[in-house]
Amino acid sequence: MFTDHILIVEDSLAITMLLKNYLEKLGYVSIHTCDSGTAAIQTFKELSEQEKTPIVLLDYRLPDMDARSIFTQILKIQPNARVILETATEKEDEGIRELIRIGLYQYIEKPIRFEALKSIFETLETEKTFFQSDTSPDNKEMEQLELIKEGIENVYKHIDFLIKSNSQITLAMIEQNLGFPDSRINTYLKKLENDGRISIVGDKKEIACNQCGSVKTAQTFSCPSCRASNFKLGKLIEHYDCGNITEDSTYDDDKCPNCNKEIKALGVDYRVLQNHYICNECKEFFSEIFSDYLCLSCENRFKLENAQWKTSPNYKVISM
Ligand SMILES: [Zn+2]
Ligand SMILES: [Zn+2]
Ligand SMILES: [Zn+2]
Repeated sequence: MFTDHILIVEDSLAITMLLKNYLEKLGYVSIHTCDSGTAAIQTFKELSEQEKTPIVLLDYRLPDMDARSIFTQILKIQPNARVILETATEKEDEGIRELIRIGLYQYIEKPIRFEALKSIFETLETEKTFFQSDTSPDNKEMEQLELIKEGIENVYKHIDFLIKSNSQITLAMIEQNLGFPDSRINTYLKKLENDGRISIVGDKKEIACNQCGSVKTAQTFSCPSCRASNFKLGKLIEHYDCGNITEDSTYDDDKCPNCNKEIKALGVDYRVLQNHYICNECKEFFSEIFSDYLCLSCENRFKLENAQWKTSPNYKVISM
């Protein structure tokens, strides 16, 4: 039985039940569920305040917010949060890579297989044991030693995963993803290098906090008008007749929500504006969104032009 709390964020009830079932089989008893991003952030916050920070299973597509803004808000509450993303298509690759850069723990492909989920959670549990242990094996119980050994294996597996999901990755980024620097990470990377599986392609500069120097930073996006980070990408319809521009879903039965007239011909009496950011707070919309950086170590906010830069070895994948 595991004491960790788990938060499933998923708008499909069927998938939620399936996941809950799987996790119960694995031995988890404290499972919470949410069907929207807003509820998820609220629940995550409440649980964290009670020192029950949950492991999060997050759906990539939710109706009210995109996964990225949910994820960055979770990181703001708990910088070392373990978030596992559920994803359905390969089209999301670029977005996922970006989330891994800022600290996504893992992703799992839909349809979700029990074995895949099991393996992620096993890694998570043993990794935790590993990082909680110190390196010296003296006066440790055999059982604990076994767990530490298993933990090391899983940390290596996690490093493999990080390297495989990025064609290039820096040492600073690997350390950031694993939670903190550890000499055993370097030893393992050296081994991969000697085996010809990765090679160093020089040093790479990365954005670091201009206050504390941490590379654990996340680019955050917010509404240019009210600064809320609760927005979604959507489609707008402009009704030429009355000038109304609102989300396509507000045109119930093809009727303009402002003047109540029916919209008939695309390009004649209305047009569609694709890919606009719609703020869930102030309801305004924008083709571009305000961006700055958040330091996940000290919560400092800074603009790109004020960033510090940190240099660390950059690894390239040869064959993993
Ligand atoms: Zn900082
Ligand atoms: Zn109208
Ligand atoms: Zn707004």
